Amino acid sequence: ILIKTEIIEKLLVPLYPQNHLISNWRFVLKQWVIEDKQRKRKIIMHTFADMGLNEQILKALTEIGFEEPTPIQEKSIPIVLMGRDILGSAQTGTGKTASFTLPMIDILASGRAKARLPRSLILAPTRELAAQVADSFEKFSSYHKLSMALLIGGVSFTEQNAALSKGVDVLIATPGRLLDHFERGKVLLNDVKILVIDEADRMLDMGFIPDVERIAGLLPRMRQTLFFSATLSDDIQKLGAKFVMNPKVIEVAPPAATADTVAQHLIWTDVKKKREILRDILRHEAVKNAVIFCNRKRDIAELIKSLTRHGFSAVALHGDMTQSARLEALQRFKDGEVPLMIASDVAARG
Ligand code: AMP
Repeated sequence: ILIKTEIIEKLLVPLYPQNHLISNWRFVLKQWVIEDKQRKRKIIMHTFADMGLNEQILKALTEIGFEEPTPIQEKSIPIVLMGRDILGSAQTGTGKTASFTLPMIDILASGRAKARLPRSLILAPTRELAAQVADSFEKFSSYHKLSMALLIGGVSFTEQNAALSKGVDVLIATPGRLLDHFERGKVLLNDVKILVIDEADRMLDMGFIPDVERIAGLLPRMRQTLFFSATLSDDIQKLGAKFVMNPKVIEVAPPAATADTVAQHLIWTDVKKKREILRDILRHEAVKNAVIFCNRKRDIAELIKSLTRHGFSAVALHGDMTQSARLEALQRFKDGEVPLMIASDVAARG
């Protein structure tokens, strides 16, 4: 906004005498411009409703408490609904999961699954990530009759087979376990119309790409592919190009490292005093629940023993536990039954 100094002096200062300094007015005007920009941005911003998602999805979202789409959702949902491929760069925490699950639910709402022939496939690098995607899918599709199967290691084949034989709309899997089922003839991939490759950079780090390529080779060529990675480095873009066709490239800024509401503190201490200080914090800060990370799995068992001796109750979470033990620990922690979770840094990543 350009306003002449004389106008400020003649018109505005008499109206607001407390702002008699021109520099004050500069400040006020700047604020107006910022507020105005924000208002305009709000007006042009999409809502879940005007992106074309169906009523049942909107109802589920209202119940979950999602009011507005995040930037990745705003960019991806209309593109997925159009049937186009995506090469997306988004990290966990940006709302990436809903950016592909919501439009998938909308697309899959019409049509029915046949036995052993899933209609869509979501590949994730770890069991935990696959389980998280499945959780979101279930929540978002609470008003739909879509069937889902989760194929991850550490869970019995029998249960997974039963789900597959009924027919699934969405198959969520880690690559190794999916190939196991395929080799046993329990699943066929020729009816998959939508493929999601989630966290492709981690798949690459973990050496899963050959499996993913094999799986993609079993799918129909005419399909929609949504490829997501935390970063879109040259290598990842080259890799992505093998799976997608004429994709829309979508990038969003990584989420802030820490939410504004999180205070961070660093305590310097002697190794020997660590446990005592931890107990002190847990008692004096009236901690309702906390996740405590340890470097080594061995430290987890020791810390739990020591905390238990001092009257605290804690569960462990690390990569050496069986899947059912991990799920049980997570559930007990989520339900508030056990207030402390002692986890390895591997668990922290996924
Ligand atoms: P994600 O990046 O998919 O792992 O999502 C990160 C977190 O943000 C999850 O806890 C989601 O439930 C939450 N979330 C995703 N989209 C929204 C939204 N539009 N409004 C509020 N929370 C959201």
